[in-house]
Amino acid sequence: MRNYPSLEELMPDIYRQLLHAETTLENHFKDMQDLEFTIQEGKLWMLQTRNGKRTGAAMVRIAMEMLQQGMIDEKTALQRVSPDRLNDLLHPIFDPVALKAAAVIARGLPASPGAATGQVVFFADEAEEWAKQGRDVILVRQETSPEDLRGMSVAKGILTARGGMTSHAAVVARGMGKCCVSGAGAVHVDYKARTMTVDDKVYGEGDWISLNGSTGEVYAGQVSTKEAELSGDFGALMALADRYMRLEVRANADTPEDARVARNFGATGIGLARTEHMFFEGERIVAVREMILADDEAGRRKALAKLLPIQRGDFEGLFREMNGLPVTIRLLDPPLHEFVPHDDAGQAAMAREMKVSAGKIRMRVEELHEFNPMLGHRGCRLGITYPEITEMQARAIFEAGLNMQANGIVVKAEIMVPLVGTVREFNAQAAVIRATAAKVFAERGETLHYMLGTMIETPRAALIADSIGRQAEFFSFGTNDLTQMTMGFSRDDAGKFLPDYLKQGIYEHDPFRSIDQKGVGLLVAMAVEKGRSVRPDIEVGVCGEHGGDPASVAFFHRAGLDYVSCSPFRVPIARLAAAQAAIEA
Ligand code: PEP
Ligand code: MG
Repeated sequence: MRNYPSLEELMPDIYRQLLHAETTLENHFKDMQDLEFTIQEGKLWMLQTRNGKRTGAAMVRIAMEMLQQGMIDEKTALQRVSPDRLNDLLHPIFDPVALKAAAVIARGLPASPGAATGQVVFFADEAEEWAKQGRDVILVRQETSPEDLRGMSVAKGILTARGGMTSHAAVVARGMGKCCVSGAGAVHVDYKARTMTVDDKVYGEGDWISLNGSTGEVYAGQVSTKEAELSGDFGALMALADRYMRLEVRANADTPEDARVARNFGATGIGLARTEHMFFEGERIVAVREMILADDEAGRRKALAKLLPIQRGDFEGLFREMNGLPVTIRLLDPPLHEFVPHDDAGQAAMAREMKVSAGKIRMRVEELHEFNPMLGHRGCRLGITYPEITEMQARAIFEAGLNMQANGIVVKAEIMVPLVGTVREFNAQAAVIRATAAKVFAERGETLHYMLGTMIETPRAALIADSIGRQAEFFSFGTNDLTQMTMGFSRDDAGKFLPDYLKQGIYEHDPFRSIDQKGVGLLVAMAVEKGRSVRPDIEVGVCGEHGGDPASVAFFHRAGLDYVSCSPFRVPIARLAAAQAAIEA
């Protein structure tokens, strides 16, 4: 109960003067003011005024209210909101009071925004089991691999000791809209002992930790979080952004669920569906492993025939969800070793499942071993060696498209070949895809319109983009790989030295997070120009992680791209950044 009088009751005149000063200052600066004043001997003294600091939610509300009051115009309202601060609205944040008492124990990269608190687990299986019991878990790994997907999807947050902004953990977590801190070098994970050690302090399975994926901070103990709230002002701001932006914003989405989230956040297409993520669930990994173990093409085809209906179902789901909007499907990209277990227990289990000796599995895993898998047998190189994989994927896309078309769905399929470096590579894959299309269309007696394009993610592809553009109907810049190959450092290992580079000012920012405009960006701009010089209506987009970074979005706007594609939860950020880029141009 209030037992003291208000200023209005105590000094009504002064109160009116204060209100008047506040309105005058707010009208003058056209922004919310943080005022300091004193009242001395019955006189009001204004001491200081400055634009008030605000949370993301307040930022949106203030901009939209000032617009409604006619104090600022639409462009100013859009410019008043920092795109990155929208994260505060889209993800949980820490309760500020609880956070004050929390101690930071380590720092990593702010790999995927939001706040999470939970009990430490070190294995995906435990994450699933504990989550089923209703416990909140944080999955702590040295680094993650596709095998950890299910554990990642049930965890509240993910912490890795290794890996950069485009590591598996970072990319997948952003796709899921889940908090992630990656590359926290001070965290030492001991899987055998099921502990993590930070500065001599040992945390075991079940201990509570908290993560701030927006800052990269790791806290000891439980810090309570507040759920995200989307207000009407947010919708109004987004609608306004759409009126000004020229760049389209698509999403990187691999499942119908991701696609639905992306559409709700205003994505106007899928710019990247990574098909490898579809290979891990349930039964399908068995068929994938069968294909990998096969001794010859006939054996591979037998296994691929099992995958075909599953993959067709995946694509049907995406086409259905995106009815009328483009869906860009990328052919298989990662090296095959990612699909086989590397530990003895895993190999023994796989041997039992496949009814072969553990020795055979071990031998195949050894054969698949590469010293530098990122520069190894991946991308279209897989399809060149095993065209039957490309054939199966193309057939699945065409059959899915025709099935959906028959159900009244408007299908806009864009088939994308990854990691191309030469025109002949693209042509070889294009020939397989076109021949498969002809076969499927003849079998079905109907056709499907589709586009056939390529990723531009090796520096050589950017350099010869005019030759490639004569063959490909669209380009999508894979700026994760383009950055790693242009800078000459691995996206998985750069976390070890990049912090020193940033500290010493050698780089102003992490080039995997915000595009290196002078170097990698130059390749992008040049390739756009080369592509358009031979095919003026060539569609150009970007699907690397930079597609959701505001400074990079502004750069892509200036470089004349048609769209950016980013994780579903970053779509609103990219829409606002695209509008701001158009206003500033
Ligand atoms: C890229 O390289 O930018 C890209 C989108 O592909 P991935 O991250 O799957 O290699
Ligand atoms: Mg790539």
